[in-house]
Amino acid sequence: MVLADLGRSIRNAIGKLGQATVINEDVLNTMLNEICGALLHADVNIRLVKQLKDNIRKSIDFEEMAGGTNKRRLIQRGVITELMKLVEPGNKPYQPQKGKPNVFMFVGLQGSGKTTTCTKLAYHYQKKGWKTCLICADTFRAGAFDQLKQNATKARIAFYGSYTEIDPVIIAQKGVEKFKKEGFEIIIVDTSGRHKQEASLFEEMIQVSNAVNPDSTVFVMDASIGQACEAQARAFSESVDVASVIITKLDSHAKGGGALSAVAATGSPVIFIGTGEHIDDFEPFKAQPFIQKLLGMGDIEGLVEKVTEMGLDDNEELIKRLKHGLFTLRDMYEQFQNIMKMGPFSQIMSMIPGFGPEFMTKGNEQESVSRLKKLMTIMDSMSDGELDHPKANELFSKESTRLARVARGSGTSVTEVKELLSQYKKFADVVKKMGSMKGVFNGKDMNPKNVNPMQMQKLNQQMAKMMDPRVLQQMGGMGGLQNMMRQLQNAGMGGMGGLSGMGGGRFK
Ligand code: GDP
Ligand code: MG
Repeated sequence: MVLADLGRSIRNAIGKLGQATVINEDVLNTMLNEICGALLHADVNIRLVKQLKDNIRKSIDFEEMAGGTNKRRLIQRGVITELMKLVEPGNKPYQPQKGKPNVFMFVGLQGSGKTTTCTKLAYHYQKKGWKTCLICADTFRAGAFDQLKQNATKARIAFYGSYTEIDPVIIAQKGVEKFKKEGFEIIIVDTSGRHKQEASLFEEMIQVSNAVNPDSTVFVMDASIGQACEAQARAFSESVDVASVIITKLDSHAKGGGALSAVAATGSPVIFIGTGEHIDDFEPFKAQPFIQKLLGMGDIEGLVEKVTEMGLDDNEELIKRLKHGLFTLRDMYEQFQNIMKMGPFSQIMSMIPGFGPEFMTKGNEQESVSRLKKLMTIMDSMSDGELDHPKANELFSKESTRLARVARGSGTSVTEVKELLSQYKKFADVVKKMGSMKGVFNGKDMNPKNVNPMQMQKLNQQMAKMMDPRVLQQMGGMGGLQNMMRQLQNAGMGGMGGLSGMGGGRFK
């Protein structure tokens, strides 16, 4: 994804602040120019880029900053705040309410991904226990009903449509009435694609809207059309009351910036992003975590939520041991299992501090998973004594016949077993470091609602600090979290550093 390049460029520009001996106007200007160049390159609207630059400049007053103030941090914070503003217009999205019908109407250009995204949204709510259904009010495109029907059937979602009725207004009205009567909570109306110039289709959209009176009109925007997004977004929000936006195809070669900045034209918040054709390629969008992920700062909150969703947080025992600095091969094995269970690898990866947005897309997912499986096969050939040993590395180096036995048993080589052990050591070191971090592994309840945001922020900051190039230098030979992450990443194992804490999951 090209957004990954944007993230990398901004990170590099900010990183240079750390290398400069003195931070003055010149250094700030150079950094701002680099950031703005990167944003423009990613298709972000030039007016917005200029505004961002002015705002950052205004927020930084060298004269006012006391000698001892950490200018670098202040500038970083300024950049992050402005980037967040860029993708967050400040309006709150519609929050559906349980026990009552919540009608969503989808609008957008033909081919932007409405039908696909309807199903994704329905599936998202269904997984969370809402009574969910889909209505096909697209009579314009041949085969539209079949497409929705197929999607809905696959995901076991109730649906409504007609092969004979040609008036979309009637279908939408009937469908919504029927599902309301049946007590459905999330009612999603899919409409036909429109081009900004097609006045008749716009008229039809307004009629459907008047007929079903949606609680929320969702504008689906295809990121791959780049700068053109803005004009489209404006045209739609001028004729219907766009309550929220879903950006699709952020996995494609789309530069992304066009879509992200077009959101400003609607004044409506982005609620989800689509990152692929599959029903699972769908992520809730929140400005702060998005920017943090873009800059490789991770999304601890998202991780905690994911873990809770998967029910992987039931791991008291591990937490207790981590607090005592104990992390065995078996613990690592269990972490790997958790990773596998959590599904879309790439989504998880991009939430882990230290991993850039490279992981917002699937990339080498297949390869990473098969790597993990291989490592697990090696561990399958180990004895209980080895798996549970507090210092497995020492055990193996003292009695090298163990290496040969495990290699033989798992159909691998001694070198591969050694590699596994060295990965384990690095992994364990990071996990122990996290374990000793104040406030990471205590607390009893990790429901994200109960997670103390201050604590979360602190953890994020600690992570960011660990990745700060200057701090890394100070840590000298130790290499720090980032190096370690990179190594894991190279090994195709990525992310266990973060997942370890997470699988155990007491981020409170
Ligand atoms: P509609 O005309 O607005 O209903 O668009 P569709 O839902 O039929 O989607 C058009 C095409 O875009 C289909 O081939 C979808 O599989 C594809 N598509 C939708 N969302 C995404 C996405 O997030 N990523 C990618 N790569 N393709 C998508
Ligand atoms: Mg469609």
